[in-house]
Amino acid sequence: MSLFAKRDTECVPAMTLTDAQTSRLRVFPASIDVVVPSYNEAKTLPISTPSIIEFLHKVVAANNTNCQLRVILVDDGSRDMTWEVICAETRRHPEVTGLKLARNYGHQSALLAGLTQSDADVAISIDADLQDDLGAMAQMIERYREGAEIVFGVRENRSSDTLFKRATAAAFYRLMAALGVQLVHNHADYRLMSRKALLALREYDEANLFLRGLVSTMGFATQIVPYARTPRIAGETSYTVSKMMSLALTGLLAFSTAPLRLIAVVGLVSSLVSLGVALWVTALAIFRSAYIVPGWASILLPTSLFASLQLLTAGIIGEYVGRIYLEVKRRPRFFVDRIVSGSEQVKDAAVQWSQLRAQLSRISPVAEAQRSR
Ligand code: UDP
Ligand code: MG
Repeated sequence: MSLFAKRDTECVPAMTLTDAQTSRLRVFPASIDVVVPSYNEAKTLPISTPSIIEFLHKVVAANNTNCQLRVILVDDGSRDMTWEVICAETRRHPEVTGLKLARNYGHQSALLAGLTQSDADVAISIDADLQDDLGAMAQMIERYREGAEIVFGVRENRSSDTLFKRATAAAFYRLMAALGVQLVHNHADYRLMSRKALLALREYDEANLFLRGLVSTMGFATQIVPYARTPRIAGETSYTVSKMMSLALTGLLAFSTAPLRLIAVVGLVSSLVSLGVALWVTALAIFRSAYIVPGWASILLPTSLFASLQLLTAGIIGEYVGRIYLEVKRRPRFFVDRIVSGSEQVKDAAVQWSQLRAQLSRISPVAEAQRSR
């Protein structure tokens, strides 16, 4: 059910709840953080930041409540003027906090950096380009109030994506399903997480980040909100084909060991085939020696076939070993260089981090869950 008639302007509640329904709902969140990972988004942020703030203020007003809103803009080592734009947005809107990462860590790490910074009742992650419909946020908050700890935004209509992107995404979701990996179909990283779910997410400390996979396997009460994906408001996509492939590979290897099993099956089948060929050649040599023509094909084909199989096998195992190597090093997943908010410009991020760490080590999801009961 659509809560609001229009997207981000004139949001008029289209649904009124009865008293009985309202009494069963959770209270409206006292604080909401919106996390926006941004890489080379100098053109989009001046449009998307005020739109997000304005939209959420309308949602809060429509619910006759008070809520502390914060928009966390994460600059993921951009090469354009994104950081300058973020600083300008913090001066323009008291709701905005800017986070500058030490370099470009990639979408997933940037998102995690912002989510780690959040201490609100709910955190909503959204891209800077507003391809994800803002209107869905209002429905996400409604689902949260109905008891969901995680609400996944699901792209219902992807006609604004290129044919290539749609085809590769469909193939990826099919492959993951075939390998038994639990993923919410057509969900990227537009989602709402309650504080409880966010604290649980912080318990994961893997380096190979595929957040939509992690969150899908966490459990808790979940809901989905479908929405139509629209074109970028400005700028260009920074998800190149190689970045997309790398994310898909991380998702696949981080959540499934099926490729390793597949190697064993392929190895077994090819061994049986080569045994059959050997028997056949031996039989020919014994019983039909006149037919045997010394040929290159019988040598070249099996040789190249098995050599390529071995390379493929070594490559797949290598991918897993490489990822294990990254995990065992336990390197920090990102560094925050600067934090800027409102009148307090450019804080020392190192101080913030040590405070945050101390704070995190004191809070566990269990304690948090007990507190919220
Ligand atoms: N992004 C990021 N770091 C990167 C690449 C992308 O933080 O290295 C952000 C980007 O600014 C945007 C979101 O991730 O907010 C999704 O990227 P994009 O819109 O380029 O991807 P697409 O929607 O085309 O898949
Ligand atoms: Mg986009």
